[in-house]
Amino acid sequence: FLSLPLQAKMSRPVQARRLDGIDKNIWVEFVKLATTYSKVNLGQGFPDFPAPAFLQEALRGALGGENHMLHQYTRAFGHPPLVKVLAQFFEKLLGRELDPMTNVMVTVGAYQALFCCFQAFVDEGDEVIIIEPFFDCYEPMVKMAGGTPVFVPMRPKAPKDGKLMSSADWQLDPAELASKFSAKTKAIVLNSPNNPLGKVFSRGELELIAELCVKHDVLCISDEVYEWLVYDGRQHIRIASLPGMWDRTVIIGSAGKTFSATGWKVGWTVGPDRLLQHLRTVHQNSVYHCATIAQEAVAQGFQRELMLFGKPDSYFVQLPRELQQKRDLLVQSLVAVGMKPIIPEGTYFLVADISEFKSDVPDVPNSDEPYDYRFAKWMIKNKGLAAIPLSAFYSEAHKGSYTNFIRFCFAKEEATLKAANDILQKWKQEKTS
Ligand code: PMP
Repeated sequence: FLSLPLQAKMSRPVQARRLDGIDKNIWVEFVKLATTYSKVNLGQGFPDFPAPAFLQEALRGALGGENHMLHQYTRAFGHPPLVKVLAQFFEKLLGRELDPMTNVMVTVGAYQALFCCFQAFVDEGDEVIIIEPFFDCYEPMVKMAGGTPVFVPMRPKAPKDGKLMSSADWQLDPAELASKFSAKTKAIVLNSPNNPLGKVFSRGELELIAELCVKHDVLCISDEVYEWLVYDGRQHIRIASLPGMWDRTVIIGSAGKTFSATGWKVGWTVGPDRLLQHLRTVHQNSVYHCATIAQEAVAQGFQRELMLFGKPDSYFVQLPRELQQKRDLLVQSLVAVGMKPIIPEGTYFLVADISEFKSDVPDVPNSDEPYDYRFAKWMIKNKGLAAIPLSAFYSEAHKGSYTNFIRFCFAKEEATLKAANDILQKWKQEKTS
């Protein structure tokens, strides 16, 4: 042993095969660019306004209260007060009885809920259908589990009357969707309301997906983190409530989105025990547990919301109302500079068409970087405004067809949106002078 050189370096490859091809991540680059150059960051999806006072109060109470056990481990699959109130809440939403211990599991944000689903259900060789554009982590998560993602894009139809497009104008082609299902399909990921488009799937669209799931005996991983963020009187429909779907659906939610507290990383899954038992196995053997004190405060937040359900004081009623105004502000600002926003029916994201700006952005010689990436980088560096290129939300094969758009997040203080407006107005003047 002593004869070995002291600093013998490892020479064998260290990376596990499951990480092949998934090491690139848009957020690392764009978060860095935004912190370095941007004056106004409408890139990453998080509110810059405070979480509601009642939630902060609940956390303070839990932290300094008499129950010092809130600083210790709690039940692995969810702090009992939180799973109980989530079960009560979802009983109301789904119109079915739920057992808090077997039909609900708390996770470290919706992110870990997704990870648990792919690890629990996807085997080598299984295919998972992902609807494009999609929240970018679905693809690497499917691959890490050994599965093959199969992509199907929503196709935009421009409105004939010259009006601004709506996220509702982006639709799945029923025949194309049906052609992706086969004996190899294990699951489909549905994200309604959809990040990045803001599309809220209609009952008809959900029925189409549900029919295919039942016909091909496929699971549905239903990412509903933006369930309360729907606008213009639209309704979020839960696919688990359609015939034949409860038994094959895992609903995923997030306190981060629901209560504007993304840093707390409290999420949940709701579904039948026959599915959730396998999520518990993954959770138990990976993360095991999510911060007790955050779960306690979220439980209190839900108890309040249960009492105020559907009433004007409910945060789930107030938040979308405020966000709709913010959406409309941003739409006006973007239209002023010549971008064409696609009006989102839900979420706090807005995608805008930037095809009119090609002459503003210098070509980069010998670069195959798509136009939306070049535009977003140029806008951060030259205008101080950060947004995310839409093609980041597409598979490699389909990216090339969607490079004329960028995504903004409008869950921001009025002052932030005003500052964005100032940048856009100044830009407009420069363009016209
Ligand atoms: N799903 C979607 C569609 C999201 O947009 C996000 C967050 N951006 C998540 C899941 C992850 O949520 P959480 O922060 O609760 O982990």
